[in-house]
Amino acid sequence: MSTHIVPRHGKSFKERWYLSALWVGFRTTFGHFWRNILNTNAIDVLEYPEVMPNDITARYRGHHRLTHRDDGSIACVACFMCATNCPAQCITIEAQARIDGIDEKEPRRFEIDLLECIFCGYCVEACPCDAIRMDTNIFSMVGNARSDFIRTKEQLLATQGAYAPTHSQAKGAHT
Ligand code: SF4
Ligand code: SF4
Repeated sequence: MSTHIVPRHGKSFKERWYLSALWVGFRTTFGHFWRNILNTNAIDVLEYPEVMPNDITARYRGHHRLTHRDDGSIACVACFMCATNCPAQCITIEAQARIDGIDEKEPRRFEIDLLECIFCGYCVEACPCDAIRMDTNIFSMVGNARSDFIRTKEQLLATQGAYAPTHSQAKGAHT
């Protein structure tokens, strides 16, 4: 195995005497520091969370929600497509027979672990029923325990979308 020796950078005394490079760095840093201190209005800072961002686009992938059909029932048919496609494997579904005759199945349990989720949106893409969406614009999720970040079926159904429907949806899922 051959050894490749990388030559040290800098041959001149100025380059090897690191204090000159330090001086250049400090001059740049303190230049910005004093410019900002003397004109704080010019600093583009959002005082979050007192001020919330208002430039979230419709393509932003926020907190999930489960949609309803026109009759108010759950749109999900417990097909497991979302859970199967989820790269983080953070969707847990338990199916049960649907007794209202609208479809064969519905989820008895539907949970998403938001601490495992990477917000890729694959679950939304995979769903054949438009039953799961990430159009809530909710980006701030806080909790005191890990269990606070596991969203249940009831929580996901109660979460509202941030936009009105913009396209026709399968099986009447709309809210
Ligand atoms: S956004 Fe991605 S990681 Fe999160 S639940 Fe959906 S598929 Fe899984
Ligand atoms: S949310 Fe969609 S993909 Fe996931 S189980 Fe329900 S119907 Fe299937």
